[in-house]
Amino acid sequence: MADEQSNADNAPAGIDRTEMFGAREGKDGIIRCDACPVLCRIRPGRAGACARYANQDGQLIRTDPLVMSERTAEGGGAMVPFLETESDWDGNPITGADVFVTGIGAGTTYPDYKPAPFIVSSEFEGVDTVTVVSEGIFSYCGVKVKIDTDRHLGAETAAVRAKGEHVGHVTTAEYGSQMLSLGGVNHLTGGSKKEGSVTCETLMALCNKESVELEIEGGAKLVVAADKAPIVHGVEEQRMRVGCGSAAIGIFAQQWHGHADEVIVVDDHITGVLSEHQAGKVLDMKPAGIRIRGRKSTAGRYFQVAEPGKGWGGTNITDPLSIIESIDPAVAWPGMRLLMTSTTGEDSIFCELDGALRPVETDMPSPLLEVVDRIEENCEPSLATVLFMAGAGGSLRAGVTDNPVRLTRSVRGRMTSVTLGGAPAFIWPGGGITVMVDVSRMPDQSFGYVPTPAIVAPIEFTLPRDAFVALGGHAGAITPLDAVVAEFKDTARRTAARPDNPWPLRKRDAG
Ligand code: SF4
Repeated sequence: MADEQSNADNAPAGIDRTEMFGAREGKDGIIRCDACPVLCRIRPGRAGACARYANQDGQLIRTDPLVMSERTAEGGGAMVPFLETESDWDGNPITGADVFVTGIGAGTTYPDYKPAPFIVSSEFEGVDTVTVVSEGIFSYCGVKVKIDTDRHLGAETAAVRAKGEHVGHVTTAEYGSQMLSLGGVNHLTGGSKKEGSVTCETLMALCNKESVELEIEGGAKLVVAADKAPIVHGVEEQRMRVGCGSAAIGIFAQQWHGHADEVIVVDDHITGVLSEHQAGKVLDMKPAGIRIRGRKSTAGRYFQVAEPGKGWGGTNITDPLSIIESIDPAVAWPGMRLLMTSTTGEDSIFCELDGALRPVETDMPSPLLEVVDRIEENCEPSLATVLFMAGAGGSLRAGVTDNPVRLTRSVRGRMTSVTLGGAPAFIWPGGGITVMVDVSRMPDQSFGYVPTPAIVAPIEFTLPRDAFVALGGHAGAITPLDAVVAEFKDTARRTAARPDNPWPLRKRDAG
């Protein structure tokens, strides 16, 4: 703790953050932290249960630095150097176009009716703007994990476990991706204490872009981390499928035409059969007489050709010829050329029918090899992506205004924009303020926890100053940006704003 800098330590005269962070001195130098309902009593030199607050020389400090996001110079990645050293800063007012105070390391106020830790005023493009900055404590929160893979990970609704605890479930698959829904209030607080703490730990690690081992009941063992290739059954995934079997037929039919008499694209969802498919009809392909198993959906498109598994295209098929139910001798002919491929091109075989109309595997002609390679080329790299989702429509709003519904309406009306660590948040339609954010667009180590258990996440509300006052905002707690920058210039963690994030003070039309 000795090296840590204290928000309270660095407060210039006039800004009393000791009071803001709710320190109460007790006997033997013990401080009661009241930044969350746990109300830890912290001895000198020790940290509280969440390690976010500590007792340093009789003062309650936030152990992580406040994070300030700075815009980068045009066309380059370098930060504008106004904070490099004191002498680099010419003393001109710092505007909201230069620096953004994020909620990371900002601390929390509890109970919520106290103003948020920072209510920062700045000028941005001629508008007097206010950003309310806090770390929210979220019991209602979780993550949606998208895993780009064809592999079967587990049945829909199957339990997902971490360290043996039930932390979520498999939810509906998306196009080329399997989806997990992890966390949520029921796993955090509705089960055993261990389930809650492992769920909280798992969410925090995923949100902080760390690797997490998961096991799906009756399914796969996984290692996932935000923005990294998922590892399924110990093998790093390389690519997501180009599309379903029918889509692959639609994309490549013309390129196969003339080089194969039949192409079957094996897929867990829709297995495609070229000569029967509309694409084959349009190309005037002859019927091939190969009947595959499964339930025919529409022409050349078959459902339930196989069970899910670790084989071709996320099925349990390891011998693709096993899906051929019959070959019609009145239609097929000796020498007929058959290509079978998976939707990623990772698995493929080429056969010719012998005199008894049995498929015999042989070398694939180069024009077909080229197309199989092109399927692979068209597959995007496989990634795991993590979206944090939380309800910010509760008492957190009281740190902004004494009339919380006005903040909800202002967010809904897009007068107030919401960011998490400076990253844009999607706001769900309907009641409340339900936010969703891609954690990979947030600075590293943005998330923490408290042992209630709940996740601590940065959150910022930005709106014009007059709108802030009109919604009953805590106007008396506004601090100019210059003062916050001056207060934290030696202790803040500076981070370059991601160029693919809109600048947090810029009003957005959607999302
Ligand atoms: S868990 Fe953390 S925030 Fe909550 S009272 Fe203890 S030290 Fe403070």
